[in-house]
Amino acid sequence: MYHHSGTVLQQAGGSAAGVLQPRAEDTDAIHYQRCTWCGTAMYHRLLCPVCRGSELRTERSEGIGTVRHSTVVHRNTPAARNVSLIEMAEGFVVRGRVMGPPIGIHSGDRVRLSTAKDPVRGEPVFQLLDEPYRAWS
Ligand SMILES: [Zn+2]
Repeated sequence: MYHHSGTVLQQAGGSAAGVLQPRAEDTDAIHYQRCTWCGTAMYHRLLCPVCRGSELRTERSEGIGTVRHSTVVHRNTPAARNVSLIEMAEGFVVRGRVMGPPIGIHSGDRVRLSTAKDPVRGEPVFQLLDEPYRAWS
């Protein structure tokens, strides 16, 4: 096994504000469930979707994932924000928000958990892992 050092990736340059954020123990990681029978990872489920097993153990995600779907939402908010489905490296999918320009989030972008619970909406917030200055294909 590897150590959890909290230094997986340093902050990529370019973000001048908001670098220093207070980190409480329960807001810096997503906890998910893993079926003890078949090993399937899931999020906020009571039964395994694969084998219907009910013996689930809680594990802590490393916080790295890939955007699977991203939608810009304008409703009930003064500024557009995105709602994204993030497939985590452990194999489960969470719904959350990716920081950055709403139209700049694309399927396949790699993200890293920034805050497990947004104080306003209680949803996970992610930041892009890769530099946004990549070449457009
Ligand atoms: Zn199962």
